[in-house]
Amino acid sequence: MALRNIREDGDEILRKISKPVTEINESIEILLDDMYETMKNEGVGLAAPQVGILKRVIVIDVGEGVLELINPEIISQEGEQIAVEGCLSIPGVFGEVRRPDKVTVEGLNRKGQKVIIEGEALLARVLCHEIDHLNGILFKDKVIKFIEPEGKRRR
Ligand code: ZN
Repeated sequence: MALRNIREDGDEILRKISKPVTEINESIEILLDDMYETMKNEGVGLAAPQVGILKRVIVIDVGEGVLELINPEIISQEGEQIAVEGCLSIPGVFGEVRRPDKVTVEGLNRKGQKVIIEGEALLARVLCHEIDHLNGILFKDKVIKFIEPEGKRRR
């Protein structure tokens, strides 16, 4: 496994639409492994364009084990939640984003098997955030209110 460089806001690759994976081969498996390695101590999710690969691949770990999804699609959503988000591609920026409270996402695992994930609360939010990356959307586009980091907050 290897760490990959995380692309940061301003890099135009983050604004492109990622392509569906048509064949799950060794390079996809390596990508999944590397994405997990790159994310694991830093965040709760990562999308392939964040490491410069325009493929519809995401990796998530909200503390319940790693979740790998290829070609993920939101097939249903309900409710609403507002919570603070950040992004490994936009260091130091945090803000409140409105998301569905529950989502059902369909995709493929690394064996090419169809998986259906039902996410609530944090998991729903992360699924939406990562799938947005595959469509060139960043969380800051959706922020209702930016939160100043502690160090910069005025007294
Ligand atoms: Zn992000």
